[in-house]
Amino acid sequence: MPLNRLFGVISLLLMSLFLALAGKIVDSEWTVYERSTKSIPVIRKLHLALQVEEKLVIERGATTLLLQQDLQDGEAVRARLLPARAASDHALRNLRQVLREQASPWLAPVTANVQLTEQSLAAARQDVDLLAAEPKAQRDPGTVAAATGMIMNTMDAFAPAIAALSSAAIQSDRQLDDGVASAQLASSLRDVAGQMVSTLAAPIVARRPLTAQERYAFVKLSGQADQLYAVIELQLRGYSHKPDFKAALQIIRDHSLGEGLDLLTNLFVTGRSSGNYGLSPDEMVASYVPKMAAIPGLRDLIVADMIREAEQRNLRARNFLLATVGLVFLALGIFVLLLRVIRRRVLRPIVDATDLFVSLANERLATAIPTPRYDDEIGDMMRAIHVLNAHSQERSCLEKEREELIAQLQAASDTDFLTGLLNRRAFFAHGGHQFGIAQRYRRQLSLILMDVDHFKAVNDQHGHHAGDQVLCKVAELSGRWRRKVDLLARYGGEEFLLMLPEIDLEHGRAVAEKLRGEIEACHFQLEEGVSIKITASFGVVAFDHDDTLENLIVRADQALYKAKDGGRNMVMALPREPGQGVRGSAQDGSDWCRAGAQRKGVEDFH
Ligand code: GH3
Ligand code: MG
Ligand code: MG
Repeated sequence: MPLNRLFGVISLLLMSLFLALAGKIVDSEWTVYERSTKSIPVIRKLHLALQVEEKLVIERGATTLLLQQDLQDGEAVRARLLPARAASDHALRNLRQVLREQASPWLAPVTANVQLTEQSLAAARQDVDLLAAEPKAQRDPGTVAAATGMIMNTMDAFAPAIAALSSAAIQSDRQLDDGVASAQLASSLRDVAGQMVSTLAAPIVARRPLTAQERYAFVKLSGQADQLYAVIELQLRGYSHKPDFKAALQIIRDHSLGEGLDLLTNLFVTGRSSGNYGLSPDEMVASYVPKMAAIPGLRDLIVADMIREAEQRNLRARNFLLATVGLVFLALGIFVLLLRVIRRRVLRPIVDATDLFVSLANERLATAIPTPRYDDEIGDMMRAIHVLNAHSQERSCLEKEREELIAQLQAASDTDFLTGLLNRRAFFAHGGHQFGIAQRYRRQLSLILMDVDHFKAVNDQHGHHAGDQVLCKVAELSGRWRRKVDLLARYGGEEFLLMLPEIDLEHGRAVAEKLRGEIEACHFQLEEGVSIKITASFGVVAFDHDDTLENLIVRADQALYKAKDGGRNMVMALPREPGQGVRGSAQDGSDWCRAGAQRKGVEDFH
């Protein structure tokens, strides 16, 4: 996989992993924050509901007491109950208002419960008012119990609201478990304490001993009160380090349960044997009820503590969340920066460097090399590539010069210095190649060997330099007849070789004949202003399947010899005899072509 893509994939994986981890942390902190945010209003609602319960307990106590008394004036009855009823109404109104302000689907049953409680309470109050208006002697105990029972029912009707809010509070935040349970237990304790005093109300008003049922109810409630307190203490063990909790429990133990229950227990002991309690119901209430105030006080303390703790958790979670999100963004920024730096300063230069190395290896030296931007290792590498490139360019130039030099030397070694034609060595090199093709593919190939006639005389008459000029002009003239594939070489002295690929003997002879005619007809103008006429003789042979190049030249030489012998200025085309050896000497015979013999001493071999 290319480095770039690999880096991209790894970056993507790392980024995903990092984001997943960050998401997990943020999610868990968000849960804490959300829970504590949601739990606070639920605790407040629960607190209001517990206050409703407390006020209903008080109203129930006041109602129970009133129904035991003989107070027929309706206004007077209402006046006695007014504070308790107003307190209940106020508490219910507070709760209802909060429920209305913060309405949500899950609160609908609670709201319905509150409405039901209010309706039930109104009905109970109506019955109580009617009953209280009757003279006590006329009141049926069953009807009185039923009216008190209606208040109790009202409390029962309200209980689901407390249960729903308690469970909602615990669901919103598990840490509220102990606090909610303790607050509920405190409410229950206050309820039990109220029921205990209510149990003694009737005997005290009537100044009679307790019935067995009343005794049983009192003892049972007393036991419940002890149990509830014990459970509250147990539940609040986690709060024992808080001085205000310690003090509140102490007050409940000493005043509410100590002095308060002592008072009731003394009345209970009295009530078991006689009806002489020595105090009126109002005195009992006035002495007992204030002692019980510590119990809702503990409840309020618990609620306040829960709210405080939840707010602290909320604040901590919010701060932690903000810090986490900030750190995540910071880390993300650093991570992205790091990836960019690695990509820009390491990966891309490495990839560029690799491309440059590949270009260098492939000798593409013109490739632009970026200027190093940073003074680091990658910069050093780029600078090194610059140096390498410069060296490679130098080497390439040198190699090019060397090759040109070699080519020049090669050309010089292949070229005849006087005529510029191929020399004998080059002829064998190049001619060998053409010969090889003809041999391999059984193609036609003919060879012409030309020799200037009486050239020695030219030298002798006009000087060696004139001879040179003649040789050059003969070479030039011969070159005009040459095709691209033909090879023309100076074989030595005044002898020239012309190799004609794809040309048979007949056409080879024709070429030689034309050249012979050209030379014969030509007036060779020399530098000195002298015009010379010369002739040349030609030996022509054609390649046969088992010929060698040397043998072909030998045969061409034999043909030339025949031409010379035949009187010069002629073309001798010499076909190979079937039995003639590869290096066999030429045979004289009638098959020799004496082209132009009649016209210019050359005879056609046909
Ligand atoms: P024939 O018709 O029998 O070929 O007679 P010829 O005189 O041409 O042959 P011969 O072999 O007797 O003489 C060849 C002469 O060519 C001898 C030599 O001095 C001359 N020669 C060879 N190479 C050169 C050269 O490069 N320049 C000049 N000017 N003369 C050369
Ligand atoms: Mg010669
Ligand atoms: Mg000659």
